[in-house]
Amino acid sequence: MPETQDQQKFVYDFTEGNKDLKDLLGGKGANLAEMTNLGLPVPPGFTITTEACKVYLDSGEEPSALRDEVSAHLEALEEKMGKKLGQADDPLLVSVRSGAKFSMPGMMDTVLNIGLSDQSVAGLAAQAGDDRFAWDSYRRLIQMFGKTVLGVDGDHFEEAIEDAKRAKGVTVDVDLDAADLKKLVGEFKNIVAKETGRGFPQEPREQMDLAVRAVFDSWNGDRAKLYRRQERIPHDLGTAVNICSMVFGNLGPDSGTGVAFTRDPASGHQGVYGDYLQNAQGEDVVAGIRNTVPLADLERIDQRSYEQLMQIMETLETHYKDLCDIEFTIERGKLWMLQTRVGKRTAGAAFRIATQLVDQGLIDEAEALRRVNGAQLAQLMFPRFDHEVASGDTVRKIGRGIAASPGAAVGKAVFDSYTAVKWSRSGEKVILIRRETNPDDLDGMIAAEGILTSRGGKTSHAAVVARGMGKTCVCGAEELEVDTKRRRMTVPDRDGKDGLVIEEGDVVSIDGSSGKVYLGEVPVVPSPVVEYFEGRMHAGADDADELVGAVHRIMAYADRVRRLRVRANADNAEDAARARRFGAQGIGLCRTEHMFLGERREKVERLILAHTEEERDTALGELLPLQKDDFVELFEAMDGLPVTVRLLDPPLHEFLPDITELSVRVALAESRKDHNENDLRLLQAVHRLHEQNPMLGLRGVRLGLVIPGLFAMQVRAIAEAAADRRNAKADPRAEIMIPLVGTVQELEIVREEAERVIAEVERARGVDLKLTLGTMIELPRAALTAAQIAESADFFSFGTNDLTQTVWGFSRDDVEASFFTAYLEKGIFGVSPFETIDKDGVGALVRDAAHAGRATRPDLKLGICGEHGGDPESVHFFHEVGLDYVSCSPFRIPVARLEAGRAAANSR
Ligand code: PEP
Ligand code: MG
Repeated sequence: MPETQDQQKFVYDFTEGNKDLKDLLGGKGANLAEMTNLGLPVPPGFTITTEACKVYLDSGEEPSALRDEVSAHLEALEEKMGKKLGQADDPLLVSVRSGAKFSMPGMMDTVLNIGLSDQSVAGLAAQAGDDRFAWDSYRRLIQMFGKTVLGVDGDHFEEAIEDAKRAKGVTVDVDLDAADLKKLVGEFKNIVAKETGRGFPQEPREQMDLAVRAVFDSWNGDRAKLYRRQERIPHDLGTAVNICSMVFGNLGPDSGTGVAFTRDPASGHQGVYGDYLQNAQGEDVVAGIRNTVPLADLERIDQRSYEQLMQIMETLETHYKDLCDIEFTIERGKLWMLQTRVGKRTAGAAFRIATQLVDQGLIDEAEALRRVNGAQLAQLMFPRFDHEVASGDTVRKIGRGIAASPGAAVGKAVFDSYTAVKWSRSGEKVILIRRETNPDDLDGMIAAEGILTSRGGKTSHAAVVARGMGKTCVCGAEELEVDTKRRRMTVPDRDGKDGLVIEEGDVVSIDGSSGKVYLGEVPVVPSPVVEYFEGRMHAGADDADELVGAVHRIMAYADRVRRLRVRANADNAEDAARARRFGAQGIGLCRTEHMFLGERREKVERLILAHTEEERDTALGELLPLQKDDFVELFEAMDGLPVTVRLLDPPLHEFLPDITELSVRVALAESRKDHNENDLRLLQAVHRLHEQNPMLGLRGVRLGLVIPGLFAMQVRAIAEAAADRRNAKADPRAEIMIPLVGTVQELEIVREEAERVIAEVERARGVDLKLTLGTMIELPRAALTAAQIAESADFFSFGTNDLTQTVWGFSRDDVEASFFTAYLEKGIFGVSPFETIDKDGVGALVRDAAHAGRATRPDLKLGICGEHGGDPESVHFFHEVGLDYVSCSPFRIPVARLEAGRAAANSR
């Protein structure tokens, strides 16, 4: 039964929480509690829960019990500290900080020095023995509070500071003395009164309550909402609020503040990583007012604190068993821990750290698999820019946008789709630059090496489509002014005037992994991880090799535990060989239509145009040896491993010329009285085969049933190729797959014919080919009648591309580029169902069909060969529903292997 508001506890002392209560206490609060319980020096305080925030956001009011609970915790805090909030002669001051479950830089962060007032400022001055410090603290409170709690435009305060400095003839804040700051406080109070119609609140508890409410409100601020949308953080989590007694890093040279990592977040190496700023508060570090010193220098400045910090860092690493980042303050020689969390890291560091922690005995292999993911591996497999050149003089960084689709792309700037297509046809590499893209830009996006926009976020049209194409994209690079009419973009100067102008044809480089945009050509270096998978690189001593070594080990863990096998979608020997190097355990889908293109198209045309049985048999006879050779090569590349060959799937008109082009050609010829018999016959055939909805028309098994001899020819080619390999003492393992089956009767007819052909070849060649015959499940009816279909199938392979198309009624060729952006923005789904399997709909059909099929035939082999086979989240789903393998494009095989391993590690 859910707790009612009356029973709920809305406030937790730091001593009451722990790191596992992030839902309730937010990341910051949970970790402050954890550190407190570890006995680390955390300034005492308490956390108001996300539940309280949710009540406030739902009803517009704080829960009725909150005020009393806060009072009780505040009293306990005052008792612990031996002073009261805002006490005139010796004030307890607190910070009020937001802290959601996931760190959200778009939100209001902190108000410091709550509790200072016209009265208590003197008490603080007396206690600290420092007037300037006290007035500066009060000045900071009014400024921060005014801005973030009362909504006063921050420029008013900045202008007042500038005026004060100008009046005194100084340039930096620190040259303002106590009297100047006291005067400034007066001016700040006037600003607040003028802008808000009331004075700055002098009552400490009111200050605190207003700050808490402002944190709650900040959850629904524009920036926070935008950030959540981009990062796919649910909107209903709410934020916690941390109230923490203040410690000061700005009380003289024996005070200071810093940040630290327990190991290098870029390389994963252990050591002393961080920055320290003497005589300063946290915000000064961020504001970059003075230069920080490397953390190692703290040893010289304050050896005792340094050693204590090192010890604490070790405690935290051992306790969290992971890289932690830390914020700390030293107040007059006493070290205080203000924050810790498991730190963010680069993809490479994630792999390195996971293996380092295994070596240290802190985590086991299963946990190491949980610490990395397929998206990180995919990132490591993209080529990247040569960072030395990127930061040198030959190229110039001109902006930074959102890293929307990874990789590195270089090309000439073009500002419209037409030019992109035209230039790329003449062999130029281009980067398509737009303010934002829309479906009309699709051709240009396909033609371009990469896409750059100055508007839009991670779910903008450009981002979604580029990711779908696996094309590098940087979007929302707002400092770039794109002027498509004048075919140029400008990078304005600081004063907003036109600065640098980039014209059509200038070379630009975009980094889809960092969002950086450069003018000039940045050399692209291949990924060491791909070099390793290709077998061109082995673990060694230098930095890239160390990464390769870590990837090698993690892949070995994954391969050891995974239950799902991983196959490739490949239809030529080259792809098959690469897939095998990448770890493929067979081919899950060979699309034979890809073998009918190029110069063979003409032969297919002859088959389609055949009027008589004889003509048809001749056409098929010409195709047979070509098909057979294709399969021999494929079986050779995958010797000893299964190869699923799918019989022809697409509608025949795809092999014929475009209806409009051909009609024009025939019409022009007619007007010249120049009859071309062949073109006329072709046009008739094109008309005969034309369909309004080809995806739902004469394709797949339907073709095999309607065009006599077509499937039989393909089956014969497979069987003869297998027989050849057998005779060569090799081990071909062909599986024949029938596409687009909707009912078992279709399969039965094709199966009967196929078995007859196979038996003929076996007899003629004196071999037992052990060919199996199965079907794709890619229509809802096939899934719903899986129990019957399994009677005639040795295996099922789920074609989740068509299944998604037919279950949703979405045209797979059109919708992603048309209305999906709107759907994503409205939150109808968080990701395209063509990218990640829709578990509740399409996935449910897969699960049920798998069970039904196995109920009929317990040894039924189950696989998936749609695009979802290489998608991390989908791989976990296929593991859960008990499939035997996933099949995906060669490049995604390592990701699928890793995710299959992670899925197995998670379910142990
Ligand atoms: C599918 O539909 O999921 C599939 C793999 O077949 P194709 O993409 O070739 O239609
Ligand atoms: Mg299909």
